[in-house]
Amino acid sequence: MQKYNLGYICQPSANVKKSIAILGSTGSIGTQALEVIASHPEKFSVEVLTSNSNADLLIEQSILLQPNAVVIADEKKYHQVKTALEKFPIKVFAGDAALSQVMEMETIDMVLTAVVGFAGLKPTLAAINAGKQIALANKETLVVAGELVTALAKEKAVNIYPVDSEHSAIFQCLAGEWNNPIEKIYLTASGGPFRGKDKAFLTTVKKEQALKHPNWDMGAKITIDSASMMNKGLEMIEAKWLFHLTPDQIDVIIHPQSIIHSIVQFRDGSMKAQMGLPDMKLPIQYALGYPDRLKSTFPRFDFANYSSLTFEKPDSTTFRNLALSIVALQKGGNLPCILNAANEIAVAAFLKDQIGFLEMSDLIEECMSAIKFIEHPTLEDYIHTDHETRIKAKEWIEKKLTVIR
Ligand code: NAD
Ligand code: MG
Repeated sequence: MQKYNLGYICQPSANVKKSIAILGSTGSIGTQALEVIASHPEKFSVEVLTSNSNADLLIEQSILLQPNAVVIADEKKYHQVKTALEKFPIKVFAGDAALSQVMEMETIDMVLTAVVGFAGLKPTLAAINAGKQIALANKETLVVAGELVTALAKEKAVNIYPVDSEHSAIFQCLAGEWNNPIEKIYLTASGGPFRGKDKAFLTTVKKEQALKHPNWDMGAKITIDSASMMNKGLEMIEAKWLFHLTPDQIDVIIHPQSIIHSIVQFRDGSMKAQMGLPDMKLPIQYALGYPDRLKSTFPRFDFANYSSLTFEKPDSTTFRNLALSIVALQKGGNLPCILNAANEIAVAAFLKDQIGFLEMSDLIEECMSAIKFIEHPTLEDYIHTDHETRIKAKEWIEKKLTVIR
């Protein structure tokens, strides 16, 4: 047994078929995970599918894959899903509580957390509590409550396999290095659609521009987070918990081509990087299939198409979300939870054209100074902090809109 970042790598037998529950099967990560699962029927089966409110796609996926159970979080859609699946031996549940309850099903081996935002916290904790292995895409869960989540994972001997491409890259670089201390890591960032732009330009940008990511096709929230550099800030905090790092061991480097997915530097100065074309199916498959590298037909990298791979320092003066995330990373406590909740409200407001691109950082900064700091929060403290921050953030937006009217 090897000592690993969160607990223990208990090498699973390579030939065991895993039954997978997907929290958020109708999203960008969820649908790509289903493609991975479908191309390896000898390795994986689908046990549970869930969606927030996309009943049509959940029904379509369920008819095709015949899971044991499905959950639609939006209770208003229960009747539609239940009726559509009546002919099939599929259990149908609705509501937030059901998301956590189904995680206890004995037949689940691994849970892929592909929900977006704070909503992933409770079902992820429920899955860990039930001893399920976790493939984690929902970074916000670790950002909000990394200390609680990793302590519970350790207690229950649950491994958390990263799905986020940068963290998967670090994890892949660590294979065979479990006893070698990390000196530092470099998380790579594409820089998003506004790399190199100044504040004057960013004041004018609209959601349509921010939603056009140069290298990745993702859900709306993470796409805005990538444009504002909040995604990288959240990933720094995610890395702290996944790999037991101190803030000064985590650095960010802009790499516009998104070929090198991240880098580990060891104490002898040697650096290992993991590279490949930007395609989330690869890290999803690595997390689900670990420790095996399963055969894939994903497009291969061709050196002839890339005459150079380039690197730049990030601009955390223009992209203030990065600087704010570093404050939250360093101070800890409930500050990352405040940062996350304020950001979720800010992104939603930006997507509704209620606030400007740079105002997202103003709003987050305001919440970080207004909400009471708690050094060692409990789960209840996190839930309360999240709630209070959302109220504060919505008031801030309302006040701004009132001035405009
Ligand atoms: P998405 O918006 O495309 O999908 C989100 C999924 O979660 C959907 O199935 C939706 O129905 C479900 N969901 C949303 N809110 C919910 C709620 N309140 N309760 C229950 N279910 C809910 O998002 P995505 O891009 O797939 O991202 C999912 C997570 O993975 C995020 O945390 C994101 O940061 C992370 N991630 C995504 C990518 C990517 O390429 N998309 C890459 C790295 C990490
Ligand atoms: Mg990432």
